[in-house]
Amino acid sequence: LRILGIETSCDETAAAVVSRHPDGRGEILSDVVLSQLEEHSAFGGVVPEIAARAHVEALDGLIEEALDQAQVRLCDINAVAATSGPGLIGGLIVGLMTGKAIARAAGKSLYAINHLEGHALTARLTDGLSFPYLMLLVSGGHTQLVLVRGVGEYERWGTTIDDALGEAFDKTAKLLGLPYPGGPAVERAAREGDADRFKLPRPLVGEARLDFSFSGLKTAVRQAATEIAPLNDRDVADICASFQKAISRTLQDRIGRGLARFRSEYAHLDVTPALVVAGGVAANQEIRRTLQALCLEYGFRFVAPPMKLCTDNAAMIAWAGLERMAADFAPDDLDVQPRSRWPLDASAQTVLGSGK
Ligand code: ATP
Ligand code: MG
Ligand code: FE
Repeated sequence: LRILGIETSCDETAAAVVSRHPDGRGEILSDVVLSQLEEHSAFGGVVPEIAARAHVEALDGLIEEALDQAQVRLCDINAVAATSGPGLIGGLIVGLMTGKAIARAAGKSLYAINHLEGHALTARLTDGLSFPYLMLLVSGGHTQLVLVRGVGEYERWGTTIDDALGEAFDKTAKLLGLPYPGGPAVERAAREGDADRFKLPRPLVGEARLDFSFSGLKTAVRQAATEIAPLNDRDVADICASFQKAISRTLQDRIGRGLARFRSEYAHLDVTPALVVAGGVAANQEIRRTLQALCLEYGFRFVAPPMKLCTDNAAMIAWAGLERMAADFAPDDLDVQPRSRWPLDASAQTVLGSGK
């Protein structure tokens, strides 16, 4: 089986061709991503209108490139998988409409994929992971701990009640005068800093529920910065280091609880349980070390797919389509509509904060 994947939900335009062998193994035949980072950096964040326009301009060329690199023609693929939510509606429309047009013209079936399902199933493509496992998605738009039970079977155990973690990095960077995107800039500055200089809050630590909250942390950073303004490089470094430490401690508590819950719910599991990390924030070395140490403590395998597959890409969308096909899910009708909000577990009633 071979699928063309299309991803346009945020600020990356992406196309990929992925195949699934009869033994269940996946193979990425091509995976092209065009980041719009430069278009948006002057604005300090993603501008939806600019994003949609950039997707329109780039997508056709990227799809051609993906097919060329994979050395396949449209008649060689079995289906088209396109992200249909959650995300910025303008971009979603571009990708899904293009997917529909190709499916229609080439007589292929269409799979409308939930972007979060793409992130959730990536570790099966890269590491052949078997169900069930836990997935922590930490990106600019999402912060969720999800139980992945099977294809189409997801339980959201925790989500942010305000800002996403990447968003907290971006906002903190902005108020410290660091460039966008904030994550890498904050991490770089933190390397030289004293993590114990500022006492920042550790939101929700100690609470039984598995949610996250990061907006209070950002406010505390603003207060600390205002008190000692004007800031020199040393101050910025110390704030960044203290900020990262607060986040690490928070994750330690929140994720630790999640791992403990998984262990008690799956006490009978005869394989080592696994925690998968996804999203741009997974690039952060301190956060990685924290998660790795936690996994060691709780007896989990720590799975971090290559960064290119952790951030937004179309290979994960193609793969989600292949998983759906292999699990005998029906393809979607061509009148399927994009959804800017679309919680991964259909049973999730409320979409909180930037849970999109
Ligand atoms: P979505 O949330 O819709 O999947 P996104 O584009 O917001 O998409 P990603 O592209 O996965 O998310 O990740 C971008 C985010 O990751 C930004 O918020 C950025 O600041 C953060 N990030 C990137 N590198 C680092 C790092 N080294 N440390 C912390 N955060 C980082
Ligand atoms: Mg992105
Ligand atoms: Fe994403």
